[in-house]
Amino acid sequence: MAKYTESVCRLCRREGLKLYLKGDRCFTPKCGVERRAYAPGQHGQRRKKFSEYGLQLREKQKARRIYGILEKQFRRYFVKAERQPGVTGENLLCLLERRLDNVVYRIGLGSSRSEARQLVLHGHFLVNGRKVNIPSYLIKVDDVITVRDKSKESPKFKELLERAGDRTPPAWLEFEAEQARARVVGLPTRDQIDATVQEHLIVELYSR
Ligand code: SF4
Repeated sequence: MAKYTESVCRLCRREGLKLYLKGDRCFTPKCGVERRAYAPGQHGQRRKKFSEYGLQLREKQKARRIYGILEKQFRRYFVKAERQPGVTGENLLCLLERRLDNVVYRIGLGSSRSEARQLVLHGHFLVNGRKVNIPSYLIKVDDVITVRDKSKESPKFKELLERAGDRTPPAWLEFEAEQARARVVGLPTRDQIDATVQEHLIVELYSR
């Protein structure tokens, strides 16, 4: 699978805000946005006025970067969102939130989505008792996500579970750190998704 290999802090600086792509580092003064609050590159410090298209493009890029998704797959999510009843932009964000790597991140196992994705890829999770190592796997209501017994005993997971126990998951997820078990109690609504994205601009971009 194609993969972004450049510095991820450049992505935040390009969007002009913290996208929290590096886990704990994002909360320290070492954060790229804190240190250099301007876009990367030779002309990064110039004031820039965006066209309507430019604004729409930036919102789409921001959403892609937050969830760590490449263009082709993002487009597929949009097509799927368009086919669903309701507001396309909200459907799109809901689909992105339902990815298994995002769920693992939301319950606090993984300090960033990329760490959560690694954990999923390495086969540490079961969904309804079956091993799933596909980060894009879409969870449904009543799905139960558990950490595999073998993984649970590892020092790394013991630490992750301890940290996750101190965090509050969003209302659409229930998480019991002692059991290393999460349940999907509902699908995320827009107000439960904290991504700072103006999704209507993405819809406008793809509707051109
Ligand atoms: Fe973005 Fe985190 Fe890098 Fe800061 S440290 S620029 S929030 S990825």
